Amino acid sequence: DKIKQGLKKTSDAVNHSLDSVFAAFVKVDDDLLEELEEALILSDVGASTAAKIVAEVEKRAKLRKTTTADELRDLLREVLTDNMLDNQPLNTDGKPAVILVIGVNGVGKTTSIGKLAARYVNEGKKVMLSAADTFRAAAADQLEIWAKRAGADIVRHGEGADPAAVVFDSISAAKARGSDIIIVDTAGRLHNKANLMNELAKIDRVISRELPDASRETLLVLDATTGQNAVHQAEEFNKAAELTGIILTKLDGTAKGGIVIAISAGLGVPVKLVGVGEGIDDLIDFDRAAFLEAILP
Ligand code: GDP
Repeated sequence: DKIKQGLKKTSDAVNHSLDSVFAAFVKVDDDLLEELEEALILSDVGASTAAKIVAEVEKRAKLRKTTTADELRDLLREVLTDNMLDNQPLNTDGKPAVILVIGVNGVGKTTSIGKLAARYVNEGKKVMLSAADTFRAAAADQLEIWAKRAGADIVRHGEGADPAAVVFDSISAAKARGSDIIIVDTAGRLHNKANLMNELAKIDRVISRELPDASRETLLVLDATTGQNAVHQAEEFNKAAELTGIILTKLDGTAKGGIVIAISAGLGVPVKLVGVGEGIDDLIDFDRAAFLEAILP
């Protein structure tokens, strides 16, 4: 029930705004649909996604001749389910699998990598961390602390080193030690889209050459407490990198969890993992049904 706990603030807020719509229900008309749209926007679903969801609710309500608040609630849950991507666990088949992690400073990138490493170590896997965020010296130091805590190996170079060279050495070390998973911490900043694309392309070439058959993930870490700003970051990064998923952190600290819908239904990138606390086991697989159950019981 970690997801339920982590979503407490969000579910309280979303329940509150949707309940007032259902409580005022008389029939499905323009006023009601407008209120529903407003409630979704209030819940950080985002204006364009809210409009899309409500248009679909309207269409299906007409077809089904929806006449009660309960039917409308079920219909909304159904439309949200159909518009959000299904659960997609990380693909770590093959050996070693490579997980690239990108995101701006402060979003919880290092913490999430540490938690992920700990999880795989607990599953009996051998994990190699690759400190390819060579932009800040402190980044590799932080990652090293997490490597120790999680029981993972780490490869690091000095500050300002070539990230692709770090990745190359990490792959060699992973092959030598028989690692199952390499998790790469990249600088992955977006201050300059061309720079980010070049950096990721260079890393990509090294991985493709050294591990042509490896399972790959490119995960963007977003801070849920920043609400629509996180959605905006997702849009920008999605143009610069081939994202396979999102890690949404700090869900426990915010009522803005509705951005999961904006990202999944609006942007079409799956939220794969959510951070629900600062502890080492507070990173869990995202579950669409559990999420919708929490916000629309
Ligand atoms: P980075 O700069 O992106 O590497 O960010 P850090 O990993 O250093 O995390 C920044 C802060 O966010 C730290 O204080 C973390 O403990 C905190 N943090 C990360 N994930 C979560 C989460 O899911 N929930 C909470 N409450 N705090 C988190």
